[in-house]
Amino acid sequence: MKILVTGGAGFIGSNLVRRALAQGWEVGVLDNLSTGYRANLDGLDVELFEGSLLDPDLLARACSGVEAVVHLAALGSVPRSIVDPVSSHLTNATGTLLVLEQARRSGVGQVIVSSSSSVYGMNPALPKSEREWVRPMSPYAVSKLAAEQYTLAYQQSFGLTTLAFRFFNVFGPYQRAGHVYAAVIPKFVDALLADEPLVVFGDGTSSRDFTYVGTVCEVLLAAVRGRVTSPEPVNLAFGTNTTLLNLIAALTEATGLTPEVSFQAPRSGDVPHSQADSTRLRTLFPDVSPVTLTEGLRHTLDWFRELTG
Ligand code: NAD
Repeated sequence: MKILVTGGAGFIGSNLVRRALAQGWEVGVLDNLSTGYRANLDGLDVELFEGSLLDPDLLARACSGVEAVVHLAALGSVPRSIVDPVSSHLTNATGTLLVLEQARRSGVGQVIVSSSSSVYGMNPALPKSEREWVRPMSPYAVSKLAAEQYTLAYQQSFGLTTLAFRFFNVFGPYQRAGHVYAAVIPKFVDALLADEPLVVFGDGTSSRDFTYVGTVCEVLLAAVRGRVTSPEPVNLAFGTNTTLLNLIAALTEATGLTPEVSFQAPRSGDVPHSQADSTRLRTLFPDVSPVTLTEGLRHTLDWFRELTG
């Protein structure tokens, strides 16, 4: 099996690359290293196509001879898209269209795309079923909605085998803190280990459906292996709802450290609660059972401690 992982030098991508190699697959990575790190691929036997997915020649070379593309390259982060909406649109929406088009032309068997729970936006329903209406609240969410809809339209228009996952909050090793758009778990872990205050936007009662990256990769690999497809998007989360205060309590318990918490005004574009209806996911992938938050945090803490020596 030969696959291409776009965004393979990023957080989820580099975890996926490791797991795909471990099961004997040949792996190419297309990444411009804008938010990813070459170091994430250190020691791995992959072919790196360094550059942007907006470069058609590079994309064509990277897709050559590939059986499946797992398309993870994107400019993540709601706040980033509010600062620079056009860049988010170009990379996430136009970039996905270009990947689908190249896959179609190159005869790639399957394309799996990472959309986001942010597409639900203003819809207050909990848990979020894929049948619920979507109303994005940020340019990032719009770009992800466009990406997933192109993915599904390529199934209908061209018969391409595609699958659009809506990731919720993924966490684990290789997800870094130390940059302005870092996600909440790495930010908290980093601050906790440095004995700095944990910054909470809002009162800490907002909740998220956290999924350990190992579980996400297990689903992605099973999807490739089984050539899984769906005419509708598929939530990739298991229906948990952890408040930020609960997350802090779990980290306190895992480390024995008691952090100072600094509460600040909520950020624009952030949704208050996010929890997946996982029925469709569990039907398509009945053999995957998720790693718990506690165990996932343990692996994450181990990785951070290794990183910081
Ligand atoms: P990440 O930023 O660590 O990885 C994205 C990768 O894409 C990086 O390596 C970056 O260098 C690369 N990239 C960005 N623009 C590119 C371009 N123009 N050409 C080539 N490569 C480019 O992010 P991640 O957390 O690993 O996210 C992977 C995917 O999952 C993204 O599509 C993201 O939107 C989606 N997602 C992630 C989460 C999460 O909780 N991490 C939640 C919802 C959706």
